[in-house]
Amino acid sequence: MNAGGDYGGDEPREKCGVVGVSLEDREAARPLYYALYALQHRGQESAGIVTHDGFQQHSHVERGLVGDAFEEGDLASLSGGTGIGHVRYPTAGSLDKSCAQPFSVSFKSGSLGLSHNGNLVNADEVREELAAAGHAFTSDGDTEVIAHDLARNLLEEDLVRAVKHTMNRIHGSYSLAITHDDTVLGVRDPLGNRPLCLGKIDGGYVLASESAAIDTLDGELIRDVRPGELVVLDPDGTGYDTYQLVERESTAHCFFEHVYFARPDSVIDENLVYEVRRSLGRKLWEESGVESDVVMPVPDSGRAFASGYADAAGETTADGEPRAADDGGVEFAEGLMKNRYVGRTFIMPTQDERERAVRLKLNPIRSTVEGKSVTIIDDSIVRGTTSTQLVELVREAGAEEVHLRIGAPPILAPCYFGIDMATREELIAADASTEEIREEVGADSLSYLSIDAVADAVGESRADLCLGCVTGEYPFDVEGEATDRDVDAPVSDPAPADD
Ligand code: SF4
Repeated sequence: MNAGGDYGGDEPREKCGVVGVSLEDREAARPLYYALYALQHRGQESAGIVTHDGFQQHSHVERGLVGDAFEEGDLASLSGGTGIGHVRYPTAGSLDKSCAQPFSVSFKSGSLGLSHNGNLVNADEVREELAAAGHAFTSDGDTEVIAHDLARNLLEEDLVRAVKHTMNRIHGSYSLAITHDDTVLGVRDPLGNRPLCLGKIDGGYVLASESAAIDTLDGELIRDVRPGELVVLDPDGTGYDTYQLVERESTAHCFFEHVYFARPDSVIDENLVYEVRRSLGRKLWEESGVESDVVMPVPDSGRAFASGYADAAGETTADGEPRAADDGGVEFAEGLMKNRYVGRTFIMPTQDERERAVRLKLNPIRSTVEGKSVTIIDDSIVRGTTSTQLVELVREAGAEEVHLRIGAPPILAPCYFGIDMATREELIAADASTEEIREEVGADSLSYLSIDAVADAVGESRADLCLGCVTGEYPFDVEGEATDRDVDAPVSDPAPADD
């Protein structure tokens, strides 16, 4: 699979990235634009910015990559020192522009803009209730549901209470960057499923899905927004206030952010993603290392795993014994080269052509693999089609043995919280054993990482992680699915009057 590469539609996809800035004496549009570039890997189908100049809201949302969605004139028209941005990858093939974000609207209670990463699991229920109360919806997206609920609450109470009541009504995964007139807010769901962090930049503050966006703005990461917390940036860019609006005993951080989605140079929930991936690679060696001539990553996300794996292999043998001084271990090699210019827009009309996608995007270096036993490190297996093609490719280049090591547990269930994974029917591990999958993909051996090793590498207990896609038990109340904890789901509409 692979971050930033589409090897034939066989990889999970993050659906969104969000950002918000509040600046003292300069326009927000350009920093938002740069931050969206830094978050481009989280969504490539549409990009948008909403700003507020103290009097009115300005919005520009367009299909395509950030670089294509904005022209100089668009940025110039987005006036104001505060604003939010969004990059999105929709589930359906074609983009419904009414679902592109930031979602912006004016209510009696003021103007609102919302950027959402995640997915509500009770959106239909809340939408029906709001529709019955007279709210008219323009999209079937859950972000509009949040906007309407918040707008309704804002009619009767102050901003902080209104957000709190909305948080008590919606259920599921959300990291939000919101503008209410010229005030920018950041909100993270009570279990902290998707990431959100706060940073300081020159003349103001920033909220972003990943700290790499703060680095891009030459800023400093202050900290992660806490699960259940609201951060309110001062409209004049001079400070911020925080409110812990909902408390839960545990968190449900998405472990896949560390394994696959997030940029390796981002710090998420206090961990540098690159180091977590190296640690996952080390654990992969400890749990299921195989003595081979070379270990090579599937670019790009397999790189950190493979370097950790090779490091650990240099210290101990596959049996866990200290490595002799004259034994070089397993050589790390870049054996698969990626063509960076085959983008997501490449047209693959037939299944046969789809299956060739890997060959268009990856090419093995023959001298690295010819006559050798090779271990390929990848971050996950979804449908299995990519792995099958990879193994075939490396064998055709002359490898004598091809071993596959995966830096995550088998994905056996779908994600309902903002990741476009695949359906249960499409997931190869949903009803096949590791041995059956090995046979299917044609590798000499195949091993996945254990859930405990993932928790260890991420530095959190299993109870504080979302592991839904690898256990089939979820931290939120999803209809027809099992839960892995006592889920605190809202049952009815709390009247927005008291606390
Ligand atoms: S189900 Fe998997 S991909 Fe989805 S939030 Fe949970 S850990 Fe992440």
